[in-house]
Amino acid sequence: MPFMIDMLPSADNPVLKVEGLTRHFAVRGGLLGRVQGLVRAVEDVSFELGPRETLGLVGESGCGKTTAGRALMQLIRPTAGSVHLFDSPNLSELSNRQLLPYRRRMQMIFQDPYSSLNPRMTVGSIIGEALTIHKIARGKARTDRVAELLDEVGLSTSAMRRFPHEFSGGQRQRIGIARALAVEPSVIVADEPVSALDVSIQSQVINLLERLQRERQLSFIFIAHDLSVVGHISHRVAVMYLGRIVEMGAKIALFEAPFHPYTQALLAAVPKPDPRKRGTRAILQGDVPSPLNPPSGCAFHPRCLHRFGPCDKILPKLMPVGTSGQTVACHLYDPNHGGNPATPVSVTS
Ligand code: SF4
Repeated sequence: MPFMIDMLPSADNPVLKVEGLTRHFAVRGGLLGRVQGLVRAVEDVSFELGPRETLGLVGESGCGKTTAGRALMQLIRPTAGSVHLFDSPNLSELSNRQLLPYRRRMQMIFQDPYSSLNPRMTVGSIIGEALTIHKIARGKARTDRVAELLDEVGLSTSAMRRFPHEFSGGQRQRIGIARALAVEPSVIVADEPVSALDVSIQSQVINLLERLQRERQLSFIFIAHDLSVVGHISHRVAVMYLGRIVEMGAKIALFEAPFHPYTQALLAAVPKPDPRKRGTRAILQGDVPSPLNPPSGCAFHPRCLHRFGPCDKILPKLMPVGTSGQTVACHLYDPNHGGNPATPVSVTS
């Protein structure tokens, strides 16, 4: 099926559609290197991304959000599930060669601006490389295009002759953003793009991403562990726990009335400058369990203040709750277990 480069997405026509995305890693051991277990890094993740939308993917370290981002980008191949970009075939079933035109439309910004840029290449070569690979520009046209991209991300044209180590962290992340923009993508997966930066620089990079989204009609998947950063930039938020999405909804609704006990605890842990607004905190107990041996039923049950009968036996499914289009995977709201999906249960203690 030909790729519709000029197609303008509508609200009914998602830019990206992810269904049942799953990624397991085999753990091998012993003399013969036999498979001894499976790390279930990402399990059955589904969502759609709209045009010019930012979906925040949030959770603690080890919850699978980075693996989900890489799997949907096909940087690591999913174990199961489908990824469709506009009206593309399932990207997970395409060969690397068949993927090439789609890679142009979906780019990634990496977490660490120190290691994601080749230290032996000049900035001009780093940004221009993709222009050559995708046969977009060469020679003077390529140099001009690199200069335009540097200007667009707030760097001087002279940067193209210098090497990454000559730049600060924030400037390197701008170079990473210019590299991602070079091929004019529709979707950018930004994996913790500001977490390695000073707070003052973080807001500059976030503002840059927001401006680029407006000017270039971009859609973002913004992966972060910091809820306050996600809350700033996202239109919708998906909360992940041990490889699964446990709550998803519009940012304002999810921040004002979170349903899942894990979301409530994450939000309660965000520092609030005004002591009158701190309230009572739902403290997260313990650490995230190993995805090698996830707890039965609801994976959050060993840490949940409100676990009850079915929680350690039955896996809760995402279901609609409230009136703002949120979905949540928690038995507290399942009428089959006596729950009420209309209002969030308070789990503060
Ligand atoms: Fe807690 Fe049970 Fe809901 Fe899981 S399903 S979050 S253990 S109440």
